[in-house]
Formats: sequence, C-alpha cells, structure tokens
Amino acid sequence: MKVLIVDDSADALAVAKTRLAHEGHEILCAGGGKEGLEAAGRENPDLILLDVDMPDMNGFEVCRRLKQEAATCSIPVIFLSGSGDIDDRIKGLDLGAVDFVTKPFDAFELRARVRAALRTKHLQDLLLKYALIDPLTELPNRRALDERLAQEWARLLRHGGHLSVIMADIDHFKDVNDRFGHPVGDEVLRRVARLLADGCRETDMASRYGGEEFVVVAPETTVQAAADFADRLRVSICLRPLEVEGKAVEVSASFGVAGNEGLTSPEDMIQAADQAMYRAKSAGRNCVKAHQENLQAPKVPQATP
Ligand code: GH3
Ligand code: MG
Ligand code: MG
Repeated sequence: MKVLIVDDSADALAVAKTRLAHEGHEILCAGGGKEGLEAAGRENPDLILLDVDMPDMNGFEVCRRLKQEAATCSIPVIFLSGSGDIDDRIKGLDLGAVDFVTKPFDAFELRARVRAALRTKHLQDLLLKYALIDPLTELPNRRALDERLAQEWARLLRHGGHLSVIMADIDHFKDVNDRFGHPVGDEVLRRVARLLADGCRETDMASRYGGEEFVVVAPETTVQAAADFADRLRVSICLRPLEVEGKAVEVSASFGVAGNEGLTSPEDMIQAADQAMYRAKSAGRNCVKAHQENLQAPKVPQATP
C-alpha cells in the first residue's frame, strides 16, 4: 500500500521513512503542507503521516482541507507531533485523523499503528467496492450509476457540452430463463454485460440498472452519436447466438436513448431513455429509439431480428 509522509524537516522524513522500511509499503515524501496536499490529490495514498508544525501550512489545516475534498476525505491521517499536548491530540482526532503519535516515536509502535490504520483502510476500500458493484455481472450497480450521473450532470452545468444515456433491456428474457433455466439466464446476463462494457470507451460507463436492464452513460456524446453507438451495441448482442453450456441462445435487446437537450435532471434523462426503450419494445424489439426524435437513421445497418 502507498504511504505519504508529510513533514517539513528532512531529518524527520528520513527517520519516518527508515522506520517504515521493510514493511513493504511504497513510501512517498512531501516537505511541507501545500506539497503534501498536492501529493495526496495526485497520488491517492492509502495513509498519510502528517506533521503538525509546518511553516507554510500546519498539519491541522492540511487535514481540514483533505477531509473537505471528496477525492481525499477517506484517506486515513495519522498525526506526528513533537508536542504531546492533550488539546492538540483532541483537535487532531476531531478533525478526522485516525491516530496521533508523539515524536520521538518508538519504531515498533509506529509500524503497528500504521498497520492498524492500513487494515481499516483496506476493509473500507472493500466495502466501498462491493457497495458499488453488481455481484452477478461485476458491472457498476445502480448506486454507482446514480453517483456517476450526478457528477456528469454537475460537469455539464459547469462546462456545458453533451451527455447521453442509453437504456438497454433484454428482449423476452423471461423466456430464456423458462427454456434454458436460471443459471443459463445468469450467464446470458454476464455475457451481455461484457459486450456492453467492451463496446464502451474509457469515459463511458456501462452499469446494471436492474434485473435484465442496463444503462450506459456516455459523456461528451450527442444524442445522435449515442443512438449510433447504441445500435452498434445492439448488433454486437444479436449478431450470433450466445453459446452457453453447449446451448445456442438467441439474445437481443431493445434500446432507448436520451440526450440532455431539453431535460432538467439526471432522473429525467433516465426516465426519457426508459420511455424511448419502451417505444423500441412496441416497435418490435431489437431496435433503438431516441427520446429526441429528429434523428437520422443509424449509420450502422440494422441487423435482421
Ligand atoms: P420484454 O421483451 O418485454 O423485456 O420481456 P422480458 O421477458 O425480458 O421482461 P420481463 O420483465 O417480463 O421479465 C424479465 C425477467 O428477467 C424476469 C426475471 O425473472 C428475469 N431476471 C431478472 N433478474 C434476473 C437475474 O439476475 N437472473 C436471471 N436468470 N433472471 C433474471
Ligand atoms: Mg425489463
Ligand atoms: Mg426484458
């Protein structure tokens, strides 16, 4: 794991670094408060050892700023201080630090405290990961989708541009379960999830919205481009039957697309994409419909259903 040590004294940095050698961590050093803040944002360490007394920005202020920023607020902080003053300890812990160690520290105690903080961080990371991932398909789940859409919406309000969402719903999926059994249905969901994720650019996000429904978030994408993109995804799913447990399973999905134009919230976009998806179902399934209707025909030829 990655440990950042922030201290204005080169000697203190060297001592802390030596004390933590052989623990197998990657050690990063910053020689002041401002440099420490920058390094924390850039490197996303698993733990910060933070000196209290530093001339450019003291440790308490660094900690306060770390805890204010979404990107750094969950990095645990252990204060290192020359003073064992009880008020300082209370202040540090109240600012969100997990521990407070007085210099000069015992090497074994420091290592043990670092190990304890890293154990908790590891568990916290695992919990966060599982809270945001759908266990069946390993795609981001609905909660992750909501968070990402909120971020993209905020970015749109600040910088303008485009945002599109694509809703996909597998056609007659109940029949797949009924004919081939639930385990095959599960495998079909995994395969469709993989096809959607593989079809995405790095900046897009494919997520599992519900049972056999998926949502792709496509930032910087007009509704026209998103409709063409959705059609490529559609073709990738229905191109050939999926081979599951030696059986050929014909799978297709219906797609609804919505761009941000004329819509006022991320929830509106999801609802608009959902309505468009239902129009794709009514139009015979295995096709793409857009909320904003004045679109050209997709550039990719429609595969025969
Ligand atoms: P339509 O074309 O109108 O979308 O028909 P459909 O059969 O796909 O839709 P319906 O909503 O009637 O059925 C969805 C099915 O998806 C029913 C449900 O049992 C199944 N399903 C939902 N989640 C899972 C899952 O995790 N695994 C499996 N195997 N099936 C699931
Ligand atoms: Mg459905
Ligand atoms: Mg369905």
